[in-house]
Amino acid sequence: MTAPVNLVRHGQFHGGLALEPNKAIALQTPLSRAPLPDRLYLPIDQHQGDAGAVLVSPGDRVLKGQPLTRAGGDRRVPCHAPSSGIIEGLVQQAGGLMQRSGQDCLVIRLDGLDEAVAPLPLAQWDTLPANALIDHLHAMGLVGMGGAMFPTAAKLRGDWPAIDCLIINAAECEPWIACDEALIRSRPGAVLAGSRILARASGARRIVLAIESHAVEALEQLAAVNQNDEQLPVELVTVPSIYPQGGERQLIQTLTGKEVPHDGLPQDLGLLCHNVATAAAAHDAVVEGRPLTERIVTLSGPGFEHPCNVLARIGTPLEDLLALAGGLKPDAARLVLGGPMSGLTLDDTAMPLGKGTNCLLALTDLEIAPTAPTLPCINCAACVEVCPASLMPQLLFRQLQADRHEPARELGLFDCIECGLCAQVCPSHLPLVDWYRHGKSVLRKKTLDQRQAALARRRFEAREARLAEQAAAREARRLRRQERLQNPDAAKDDILAAIARARGKGPEQKDD
Ligand code: SF4
Ligand code: SF4
Repeated sequence: MTAPVNLVRHGQFHGGLALEPNKAIALQTPLSRAPLPDRLYLPIDQHQGDAGAVLVSPGDRVLKGQPLTRAGGDRRVPCHAPSSGIIEGLVQQAGGLMQRSGQDCLVIRLDGLDEAVAPLPLAQWDTLPANALIDHLHAMGLVGMGGAMFPTAAKLRGDWPAIDCLIINAAECEPWIACDEALIRSRPGAVLAGSRILARASGARRIVLAIESHAVEALEQLAAVNQNDEQLPVELVTVPSIYPQGGERQLIQTLTGKEVPHDGLPQDLGLLCHNVATAAAAHDAVVEGRPLTERIVTLSGPGFEHPCNVLARIGTPLEDLLALAGGLKPDAARLVLGGPMSGLTLDDTAMPLGKGTNCLLALTDLEIAPTAPTLPCINCAACVEVCPASLMPQLLFRQLQADRHEPARELGLFDCIECGLCAQVCPSHLPLVDWYRHGKSVLRKKTLDQRQAALARRRFEAREARLAEQAAAREARRLRRQERLQNPDAAKDDILAAIARARGKGPEQKDD
């Protein structure tokens, strides 16, 4: 018998579309563990923040769970060896945050023994101060596993008002992706325990776990093990299967009816959102003492022979994962990293699984709309109707097309969550999201250039001030010497003092 579930919801975000979920295809087979590959390619920067210094050298033998980069502050997250083997060196390839090209990846030639360092569980974690818990989560390499890879410690230890409610985001809204659902089905207890750990670390007084209404089996699994913890109850809430329900701001609006301010954060409303896989990773880090070195990834789409979910080590080459889904069918035409709406088309599979990689999708020609010629915007406002960020996508597009990036910023370009809905419904087949991504990168580069120019200017001004100060001091000394030379008694005193000093009897010379 399952425990009762609270099905109440309070609001609905603007726009959105009900899409065919297509998740069952990858959930037909039980979750399996990927075999160890020959080599792991571990991106050293898998989070929003700087990479830490590398702690190992080529030829070193490393054990599973050993930190390979140095942690620092809350934004420099360490990465750990996902299995035992020999460090071969650093190579540059696509990977890491947003799967950018030219990322530094540590290459580990695995020895197949999978020897691990001793686990470091935190005993009595529920009696420890929040800071001790956060420090531990940071040392265990936790980042947001929903895709953004924001350092978990930085999100937990911010300078904001008290957190009232922790929202665990299990609203996996992109079609085909089912890794969170597979996680909940296989480890509901770890998800709930990890949610309580994150709540304790953030000071939240209550927890809401939000899951889409179609995920009936996962919800039942959670309800079956959800104990009635009076101090930190977890409220299971279903939300409609409307894309992009899993967007942080959209989910908050659905659950609370409140909009996160355009220039604010959920924390401003007393809310904190963490992905459900991050919650399970928090359980593993604290209860089992294991750092974040593996994750579940969905291999799905009509282009795979046997779609499935697999638990694989971080750093596993994506090409090794293809075989686990029976390989690609002859008619597979496109591989996408992520979901069909907001994922990135892959040109090749020479990149590794990252902490935020949730899906590898294989599509055939049948699912890929033929590339229709783009036509001028007809101002139909279909894009406005679906935009979950309440933007005017057509106006953004016009500004960016005319190279007017600052006006696009003022129109809310950075509020765009790149959900892809506007492009999906556009009758003129305009590649709207490509324009938004490009516009954002131009503005980010401009901001970076401005920061660097300001820094260079400050350094130049400081140097000029230092040189002027030194020149003034030299001139003052010269004037004092000149004055004394013009006074015969003072000059005689100086000569006698110099003789005394030379004989070691006189007073120390004062620096004039
Ligand atoms: S949907 Fe396309 S054609 Fe219609 S207003 Fe938006 S950009 Fe223009
Ligand atoms: S991609 Fe951006 S502009 Fe387009 S619908 Fe989504 S949030 Fe709105």
